[in-house]
Amino acid sequence: MEKEILKYLEQGISIDGNPKDGYIVFTIWTQHFKISSLDELSVERFEKAISDFNRREELENQLLREIEPLQHDWDWRGFIDGKYDNPKPVLAEVPKRDFEWVCNECNFPNLTSSVSEDEIVDELHSCIECGCFEMHKRYFS
Ligand SMILES: [Zn+2]
Repeated sequence: MEKEILKYLEQGISIDGNPKDGYIVFTIWTQHFKISSLDELSVERFEKAISDFNRREELENQLLREIEPLQHDWDWRGFIDGKYDNPKPVLAEVPKRDFEWVCNECNFPNLTSSVSEDEIVDELHSCIECGCFEMHKRYFS
């Protein structure tokens, strides 16, 4: 093992998995990330996991910040068509979803419905409860 890798491990590390299904690694700085083989644990891989985690955090903060402005939109069409002198705010149609994402492993409801389906399918989001990357939809009745 490369010696430089030790600094990523000094606050503790946990690894779950097996050679067939791959592994889920957890450290304080990276949170959970997936690897398919233990050989992948390198300085580069840790750096990537750290930057992925920071990116996710940033995206989530951004989503939170955007929730408020999303409540309204501008009627550009009406403005261009000359209906008003200034663009007029109109209530945006916020798509209402009838489901939530639930972790396959621990059944914990995760994420807000604002996260795009592609990101879930690409397994960019790990369960905040157990770190699993696979989720399914649970529909509200
Ligand atoms: Zn979970």
